[in-house]
Amino acid sequence: MNDQQLHPVTQETSPILTCITEIYERYRHINEGNVATYIPELAKVNTELFGICITTPEGQIYQAGESEHSFTIQSISKPFVYGLALADHGVDKIMSKVGVEPTGEAFNSIVFDEVHNRPYNPMVNAGAIATTALIKGQGYEQRFKRILTMFEGFAGRSLSVDEAVFESEKSTGHRNRAIAYLELNAGMLEGNLEEHLDLYFRQCSILVTAQDLAVMAATLANNGINPITKQQAVNPEEVRAILSVMASCGMYDFSGEWLYRIGLPAKSGVGGGIIAVLPAQFGIGIFSPPLDARGNSVRGIKVCEELSQRFKFHLFDSHPVSQTCVSRTYTGAMVSSKRQRRAFQREFLDKEGEKILVYELKGDLYFATVEKLTRQLQNNQKTAKFIILDGRRVGNVNSSAITLLSEIKEWYLSQEITLILTGFEEKTQLCLQANGWTDEMFVENIDTALEWCENSLLSQADYQDQTIKDQLSLGDMDIFKAFSEEEITVIAPLFTEFSYQPNEFIIREGEQADRLFLLAKGRATVSLKLPQNEQRKRLTTYIPGIAFGELALFDINVSQRTADIIADTEVICYVLKFDNLQILINKNPEIYIKLMQTFGTTLVNTIKRATLEIRSLSV
Ligand code: GLN
Repeated sequence: MNDQQLHPVTQETSPILTCITEIYERYRHINEGNVATYIPELAKVNTELFGICITTPEGQIYQAGESEHSFTIQSISKPFVYGLALADHGVDKIMSKVGVEPTGEAFNSIVFDEVHNRPYNPMVNAGAIATTALIKGQGYEQRFKRILTMFEGFAGRSLSVDEAVFESEKSTGHRNRAIAYLELNAGMLEGNLEEHLDLYFRQCSILVTAQDLAVMAATLANNGINPITKQQAVNPEEVRAILSVMASCGMYDFSGEWLYRIGLPAKSGVGGGIIAVLPAQFGIGIFSPPLDARGNSVRGIKVCEELSQRFKFHLFDSHPVSQTCVSRTYTGAMVSSKRQRRAFQREFLDKEGEKILVYELKGDLYFATVEKLTRQLQNNQKTAKFIILDGRRVGNVNSSAITLLSEIKEWYLSQEITLILTGFEEKTQLCLQANGWTDEMFVENIDTALEWCENSLLSQADYQDQTIKDQLSLGDMDIFKAFSEEEITVIAPLFTEFSYQPNEFIIREGEQADRLFLLAKGRATVSLKLPQNEQRKRLTTYIPGIAFGELALFDINVSQRTADIIADTEVICYVLKFDNLQILINKNPEIYIKLMQTFGTTLVNTIKRATLEIRSLSV
């Protein structure tokens, strides 16, 4: 990382930038407030400096004014060091040492929670000094290195210390020293007190810009992942703890009113900085040195107030959200898998397919959307034996959705209904697996899941396919169902038997279409090569008893094959060259007509099913 290199500002013009610039212009001439003088070095700052920056979890930076000017972080360091202390010791230990109750007092007040013998919270000096005292490490250097590295993780770049400000506060920070001695006296603090104080003064003297603050705030908004470096700077559990204390205590004795008016977890520092966070959406960093009586940046508060009001950023503004996550639903009787079925199987599945329910889901899954889904499922499941939930178009799945989905799973388990999830992202699958979902509940796509459900319905009724070993005779083929033995004997010599090894091409795209195939043994799949993709998309799978390649008989314009058909297993086909039909026309025209009528009926049925499928998919 390079000290000089600040974050890239990619957006030169945008409606958001215009808005921030407008707010910047509106408040830059405000002359209220005074810079902090109790740390002499801070008194030297130029009061006109003013920078605003907003960073999104995707790393988009919007900024106006002097957002690249460096200043000391001061109290904004407190929530971050609190996060590090939590990571070092865990909640229980830290909670016993530092509380989380607002004081209603100034940042440097000398008040303690005497009931629990601890400072009230980590955002006031008393709590922050006690928190820093807990940071692990061998001696001053190593402990400070850990603190600095933690900040660099949040800022996404190397940071340094303003030595002059550090020395200035170290030599004048008698009040903080007094607080620390009182804590030592009360047993709230242990170890080398001067070392702890030096660490505290030094963490306050780390140099940042408004941009850094916005990136740090955006890291908190982004569940701990730095939007620029994409590295996890802090664990999600600590993010929640940090934001909680920022919301309740971050603005000292203005915290209650701040939450009321602006409604964002925030933290200010006497260097003139403020950060504010809207979880999942953005982080704000502002720099403007003049402070109000409570030590909060005057312009900083105004900017946050205006932004929050303009855009309704208040955490408790409830934004109506879509309550539905079902994009469409259909049964296995309306839409079937791409596997071809024998006539008797088709007939069975046209009825029994009602037992398969598919829900294609969309959007984000959270409590409200999944709650509605549970009601829809309950209304429709009377006949269901299989439920397929498809997650291809699902966005985020939050933890309440994971919990609720797992409840749904348990419920179906007890009802002996099979629940299958298709197309969900791997990270969702992992979360669900941690909640007791097993591998076989996840299937790649709806088609494969439908096929599996159909197969299990068929096998329950003893309607399954021929085993791979058996070879059907010509008379067993679906198209010859209505043919007599004599008719079969007449037609048989026109066919030639061909066999194929697994993965062998039976038909190649572009090849001349001059014959029809009857599958006697094995399985074959029609697939399309997808552009720019090594994978093939399955269009359908043929099983014994099924005819294919017959369409070309009726399509006088196209004499070339439009897709590949590949043997999945060892395959045997009875093949009829179209030329041989001439023999039938000459010698047995009545059989020829019957054959054509059969093909006609098959085609009509296929079109009817396709129409039904299109209709149910377009609802
Ligand atoms: N270093 C400062 C102090 O302890 C931090 C205070 C603040 O920013 N509010 O006094």
